[in-house]
Amino acid sequence: MTYSVTKRKFDVVIVGAGGSGMRASLQLARAGLNVAVLSKVFPTRSHTVAAQGGIGASLGNMNEDNWHYHFYDTVKGGDWLGDQDAIEFMCREAPNVVYDLEHMGMPFDRNADGTIYQRPFGGHTANYGEKAVERACAAADRTGHAMLHTLYQQNVKAKTSFFVEWMALDLIRDADGDVIGVTALEMETGDVHILQAKTTLLATGGAGRIFAASTNAYINTGDGLGMAARAGIPLQDMEFWQFHPTGVAGAGVLLTEGCRGEGAILINGNGERFMERYAPTLKDLAPRDFVSRSMDQEIKEGRGCGPNKDYLLLKLDHLGAETIMKRLPSVLEIGHNFANVDITKEPIPVVPTIHYQMGGIPTNIHGQVVTQNAENKSEVVNGLYAVGECSCVSVHGANRLGTNSLLDLLVFGRAAGNHIVEFNKQSKAHKPLPADAADLPLARLARLDGASSGEYAQDVANALRASMQHHAGVFRTQAILDEGVVQIAEMRKRVEAINLKDKSKVFNTARIEALEVENLIEVAQATIISAAARHESRGAHSVAEYGDTPENPLGRNDTEWLRHTLWHKEGNRLSYKPVQMKPLTVDSIALKTRTF
Ligand SMILES: Cc1cc2nc3c(=O)[nH]c(=O)nc-3n(C[C@H](O)[C@H](O)[C@H](O)COP(=O)(O)OP(=O)(O)OC[C@H]3O[C@@H](n4cnc5c(N)ncnc54)[C@H](O)[C@@H]3O)c2cc1C
Repeated sequence: MTYSVTKRKFDVVIVGAGGSGMRASLQLARAGLNVAVLSKVFPTRSHTVAAQGGIGASLGNMNEDNWHYHFYDTVKGGDWLGDQDAIEFMCREAPNVVYDLEHMGMPFDRNADGTIYQRPFGGHTANYGEKAVERACAAADRTGHAMLHTLYQQNVKAKTSFFVEWMALDLIRDADGDVIGVTALEMETGDVHILQAKTTLLATGGAGRIFAASTNAYINTGDGLGMAARAGIPLQDMEFWQFHPTGVAGAGVLLTEGCRGEGAILINGNGERFMERYAPTLKDLAPRDFVSRSMDQEIKEGRGCGPNKDYLLLKLDHLGAETIMKRLPSVLEIGHNFANVDITKEPIPVVPTIHYQMGGIPTNIHGQVVTQNAENKSEVVNGLYAVGECSCVSVHGANRLGTNSLLDLLVFGRAAGNHIVEFNKQSKAHKPLPADAADLPLARLARLDGASSGEYAQDVANALRASMQHHAGVFRTQAILDEGVVQIAEMRKRVEAINLKDKSKVFNTARIEALEVENLIEVAQATIISAAARHESRGAHSVAEYGDTPENPLGRNDTEWLRHTLWHKEGNRLSYKPVQMKPLTVDSIALKTRTF
């Protein structure tokens, strides 16, 4: 098959029309820049639309709160791996970006006095861990839906150009290492395009689809991470994957932590509210890694529910039908549709389910992508930015607090937008395109089109997902991780030999899926290699061998492992970089414990 490659020029190309991409594009379009936003799906179908619970900001509308508490909770919730300069920036900016949204017309729920309604959420406390606090700004349990539609409408008004059902394939880097655009496949025609830009921003969202049981949309295949890895940019902290405690058992669909924020509780097979034992202060509202591990423990020790004792129950009926219908209408629908349960009357079966990647493409607080040079020194990649779940700034450390992702999208989407506007004022001309600008994606497509034998993409993807589910789960062991490293290396050979049965051009979803699997494998390998090398338990990375001693019940090893991992595709190797540790230091009392 031959592809005619057309060329277009923009000031800025953004890959991804979720909350982060559209918050950035809004800033750029409002400043009068010529901005193109690419998306595999219609913008308002991006995964941000599925976010339920809320946006974290210390507005203090319902209880005393301030950004210092939010900062402390985020550092502690992230098990001290978050960069504190970035966390401070995010928590201080939080009220501003929420009020911005309010002024754009976001339909938040309201208190009687007209202020934005806020609910408690896991790990968010007042007065440094004393008690749970109402910090999650919510629009019922459809906060992401309301936010994404608000941002889309504002972008339409600001005249952002959207390229819908366009799949970005690869970054274009010139001989200086600068990024000067992307190549993309237009799904409707099957044609390949070069989109040249002074600045390129990746906002491709998460890659939760590397696991078999996931709360993530099917499009969450980590394309931005694959593109970065193939362009020689390392991926940071990929061993840290968050399991959400309440995915519907068997279905994977999420029941927001907002349920527990509104007062729902988890119970085991004996009818006991077991979180009281694990987290005496925050109970069911402890951070997600903590609750997920406690649930796993209950199941392992035979206190699960059902004939196989392999799930737990989330009980909501005591909240009353009126509160449920007002505050949690989607959860009510999900109960009916995915578990055949009326949550106003009976509890619903839940298990910890993969939800969020803490790692991603390394950036600074302006959203600029940073790589490491040969001397392991951090260096900005000119022309390339990343924001949202595909990036790692890193505010979530080893475990994200609920509501901090929507916040991250808004704060860093806007910050990156502002920084790019400044850059565009200085840089007038586009850099010239190298002759080989489209060679890499054309070679990838040619291989797929030329294959006449081999497995189909969906079979390889399913095998990869099953392997990751087994080898990189809630509780890991060194042996299982090491076995995973070998299996995923084998899996890469299978990905490289994928066969495409249908080779037609127009809207060929099989070709799209095959291209996505080439991104999944980069994310999976980054994850398993990084995880097998981290010989400690921290946040969501919990390894049986490194924990549970009386001196160190959590298994964290700050002397050796208080550092960020970087996985480099070239050579399949790792390097490390320090965590930004001020103002809370290793010597602070709080660092030594992580009780809730
Ligand atoms: C069910 C669920 C509930 C959640 N609830 C909350 C919550 O209440 N609060 C909270 O803070 N967080 C929540 N999260 C997390 C949060 O919603 C996500 O982390 C966040 O929305 C990701 O936004 P994003 O802008 O990074 O990417 P996304 O919204 O995932 O958008 C990614 C975009 O990239 C595009 N894209 C991807 N690859 C390509 C490509 N190759 N070419 C072109 N376009 C591409 C997609 O089409 C899409 O437009 C939830 C997550 C889930 C799954």
